[in-house]
Amino acid sequence: MFVFVTPSTTPPRAVLFDRDGTLIVNVPYNGDPGQVVLMRGAQAAVGRLRELGIRVGVVTNQSGIGRGLLTRAEVDRVNARVDRLLGPFDVWRLCPHTQTAGCGCRKPAPGMVYSAAAELGVPTQRVALIGDISSDIAAATAAGAQAVLVPTPATQPADLTTAAAIAAIAADLVAAVELLVGPASAAAPLPGAVMSPGVACGDSQAALE
Ligand SMILES: [Mg+2]
Ligand SMILES: [Zn+2]
Repeated sequence: MFVFVTPSTTPPRAVLFDRDGTLIVNVPYNGDPGQVVLMRGAQAAVGRLRELGIRVGVVTNQSGIGRGLLTRAEVDRVNARVDRLLGPFDVWRLCPHTQTAGCGCRKPAPGMVYSAAAELGVPTQRVALIGDISSDIAAATAAGAQAVLVPTPATQPADLTTAAAIAAIAADLVAAVELLVGPASAAAPLPGAVMSPGVACGDSQAALE
């Protein structure tokens, strides 16, 4: 059922991850670090990116804060647990607002992608976002970033359809990273390694705005 696409010829310089249902098992409105459980392949995927010198970040909607269901301090403790298990991440962005607040940061709005990319000094065109639902994909594409959907059993069929049209779909996080940077085989050159010198860096100014 999965659609695999050819890996990008230009690997991203930064990869942003959705948190719930992507890096860790989705526990709705979780304020308890003890309930943090990593998704399959999370450590390997993040570790691979770090080895390649690709910056890593997290962009997460936490509307439970805006709804008064959990506190910012609780979310921070959960995030600290994620950082201990997988990080440290180079950048974190969190939207505490409700769906009706009309903010620019809650995915599918692209605010957190722009903001994280700016903090990393990476143009959004060289950023990829990995997430589990269509709002992740929409936020990425609205910012001009690449996107990879890693579905979970909770991912809606409609999200798969949407994602298939505009993004890549991978079976797990390791496969998602492989789509972006190439297979992990030590003998195989990375996609970026076979490009002519200068091409990879020439666009770094353009998209920073
Ligand atoms: Mg999610
Ligand atoms: Zn927001």
